[in-house]
Amino acid sequence: MLFNEVIHAVRPYLMKDADVPNFMRNLIQMLCNIPEDEWYTKRDPSSEESYKDGSLRKFYTKQLSKKLAKKILSRLTRDNFIESIYSCNRSDVVLDGLAQAITPFTEGVTKDNVGEVLFDLLKRGLEELVDPALEITRQKEEAQYKSNLLKGKYGSGLLEDCNNTCSMPGCSHHLQKFADNGISTPDYEVLIINERKGASFSNICAVCHDCFEKYILKHSASERKELQAVKDLQTGTREARKTLSEINIDKGIEMVVESLVNLKPSTLSSLNYEPTFIANKIDESKNLFLADTVKLYVTKYFFYIKQTMQNLSRQKQYSDELIRAEIKTIYNRLEAKGLSQLEIYESMSKQIHNLTKQELIYCNIVICYFIQSCEVFHDITK
Ligand SMILES: [Zn+2]
Repeated sequence: MLFNEVIHAVRPYLMKDADVPNFMRNLIQMLCNIPEDEWYTKRDPSSEESYKDGSLRKFYTKQLSKKLAKKILSRLTRDNFIESIYSCNRSDVVLDGLAQAITPFTEGVTKDNVGEVLFDLLKRGLEELVDPALEITRQKEEAQYKSNLLKGKYGSGLLEDCNNTCSMPGCSHHLQKFADNGISTPDYEVLIINERKGASFSNICAVCHDCFEKYILKHSASERKELQAVKDLQTGTREARKTLSEINIDKGIEMVVESLVNLKPSTLSSLNYEPTFIANKIDESKNLFLADTVKLYVTKYFFYIKQTMQNLSRQKQYSDELIRAEIKTIYNRLEAKGLSQLEIYESMSKQIHNLTKQELIYCNIVICYFIQSCEVFHDITK
């Protein structure tokens, strides 16, 4: 409940030393306009005549009663409240702390507007106590807002982790919408598993709209644990996938480079290759030496490397498709950074060198192979 969450957050800054009943009585007095002749009577909602200490403690720890919320609302005074926030000799440090305490509930709060913002929050909290439908609307809006933010940040990773299927246990809703023209678009929400923790990647998952709405309005601790377990499983699979592909690539490339290191010149005699595609991929007017190097290496080693890869593939020691995809990804990343062809060539060779610890020249030859086989550089004539 908003009202209780907010008063718990602000109590250390408003009345640090007051016990709970006194804090509650003070807060009611700040919020209400109570004429002097009603003080200490049953008409004063802050009086002991109205509520005993025990009741106020219960209101604080559990929830304010609907009746008290109505009473406060009927006597609400914005000006008195704001005045009491700023006039009690509160230092800027305290006001700053107060502003920070309510930051999780609202945006744009500073020490200069904290009185106004806090009043609006408490008023909204009281209104929600009187009319629970308001609370549902607010919760939905908030969750939707967060979901949209998180989609932009983590969406594709979350969809990959759940295989485009709702993460909620027992639900198998697909999280893609298919249009008549065959185009599919993601159709999902990002759910925060445990609201008390931050919206980090380990605490969010992709779910369908129905499960999203149900969960944000109400869920039990065991439902939360089940969802957390699904998330942990997704994370585990992601880790396994990552390590597996990294190992395959390291090992595969390493073996290719090693085969070059151990190459006997006689092996090459019958394997000359005419590199017909190079001209389209490297601009000779800008990169003459690179073009020549690639041409030379490809002519001499292309077939040999290709055969080596095929042999290793047959022995299941080399994952051809995966490595090509990975090399292409690395290339795309470097190109997106705006690097020149020569810089890309050198950077990729160095990456393979770091991976295999072999001399750079062998790594250059492997990159030339991938240029010829189209993973590195694209057709510049198009
Ligand atoms: Zn679902």
